[in-house]
Amino acid sequence: MRIPVIAGNWKMHKTVGEALSLVRSIKAGMGDTSHCQVVIAPPFTALAPVSEEIRGTSLMLAAQNVFWEPKGAYTGEISLPMLEGAGCRMAILGHSERRQYFSETDATVNRRIHAVLGSTLQPIVCIGETLAEREAGKHHSVIAQQLAGGLDRLTQEGLLRIILAYEPVWAIGTGRTASPETAQEMHRHIRNWLSEKFGKVAEEIRILYGGSVKPDNIDTLMRQPDIDGALVGGACLEADSFLRIIHFKP
Ligand code: PEP
Repeated sequence: MRIPVIAGNWKMHKTVGEALSLVRSIKAGMGDTSHCQVVIAPPFTALAPVSEEIRGTSLMLAAQNVFWEPKGAYTGEISLPMLEGAGCRMAILGHSERRQYFSETDATVNRRIHAVLGSTLQPIVCIGETLAEREAGKHHSVIAQQLAGGLDRLTQEGLLRIILAYEPVWAIGTGRTASPETAQEMHRHIRNWLSEKFGKVAEEIRILYGGSVKPDNIDTLMRQPDIDGALVGGACLEADSFLRIIHFKP
């Protein structure tokens, strides 16, 4: 019922030339991907050329962030009409690196979500606790708080357009993946929270896992009943490892 999503977050990597070379290798090796949706999120400068390169394929283009205003004097920001024009279908919101280095909060994530829901794009909303929060036993309440703030004033229809990504901060870029059981337990917690607030549509929401997903752990992660895909950082920067992740073995 929930079509899996494998999304590659390229972060601040790849010039236009490097991005085109990577996407050509992904295209060449992709084969049949009818079992899942494959999303790539290159840096802003590469969006338009990559969009041209993936035309006619099933690859979907995502931005790594977006501002909520449609235009204006906001130096350095990027708007939804700009992303729509560049061929984007999705936008990653509230990534922990945005929260950590660029003062993103649940309130600003919420503004972005509402703006994206007013566009043709679909939001991929990231949540996740830090190591200190987990060690203090606060991980469930931190996630509940991020959900309550981030999804504030959302309708059921809005929720149905959202993809969530649970990314424990301690697992991002560290090589320390959450065990499949730990990830599953939190994904269930998230779905229960959604179900209490929005009702049974919670069963339809895709919840991706992110945090050091690699070719050697994707299969066991994807076997968990509430893990509906992956948001991949480091391992999406090489075609071979990303292709292996796309072709996870259920
Ligand atoms: C990410 O940036 O969303 C991520 C999960 O990174 P990595 O796979 O490198 O841990």
